[in-house]
Amino acid sequence: MRITKSTVYDWIKGSLAANQRVYYTNDVIHVSEITGCLRKAYYTRTTPLKPSEAALIIMSIGNGLHNQLQEYLTSKGWVSEVEVLWNFKYFKLVGHIDLYHPELDIVLELKTTSKIPEKPYPNHVMQLNSYLAMNKSEKGYLIYISRNGEVEVFPHRFDKELWKTTIKRAFHYYFSLQKKHIPKPEPSPLCTYCPFKWKCYKERGNEQ
Ligand code: SF4
Repeated sequence: MRITKSTVYDWIKGSLAANQRVYYTNDVIHVSEITGCLRKAYYTRTTPLKPSEAALIIMSIGNGLHNQLQEYLTSKGWVSEVEVLWNFKYFKLVGHIDLYHPELDIVLELKTTSKIPEKPYPNHVMQLNSYLAMNKSEKGYLIYISRNGEVEVFPHRFDKELWKTTIKRAFHYYFSLQKKHIPKPEPSPLCTYCPFKWKCYKERGNEQ
């Protein structure tokens, strides 16, 4: 067997696919879809892109740290990858909590990032808040770990109004998918990293 660069990329691709837990069906919506830009989530479902090899590696490095922490903390009473599910009439909303401590009733959401933000990103707060709602917990923490070695922790308490907004977004997204209506763009600093930005900008031009 000859091992080349493309062999290694194939291994990385295979290991990511093996750990993939997002399966798209029409009646299942993921928390991570509705807490970020809805247009990006719509494109991800309807126009799947092959991630670049560099993006695969960055994802794998983030996953590695994630898995390592989860493995360690499960030996300290935490439970990892807790599935939460909320059954609406038309669809199910599902999510996977990174870490949950049943005795302390605390939810943790881990984020690896290139740079620690000064305050948590609103989409991450909405994600954590959804997990609190779906798990019937009051308190959680967003933990940012940067690739240059810094860590920041932001506490969050369940916010009922934010949960109501999230449910509205879930219904809006569900009906957008059913009716094949592309949701409105939701511009943010994260557009810089969006793999669909050119498609989005082009369609925005057509929508004006
Ligand atoms: S470029 Fe921004 S607004 Fe457009 S789909 Fe991507 S994240 Fe959403």
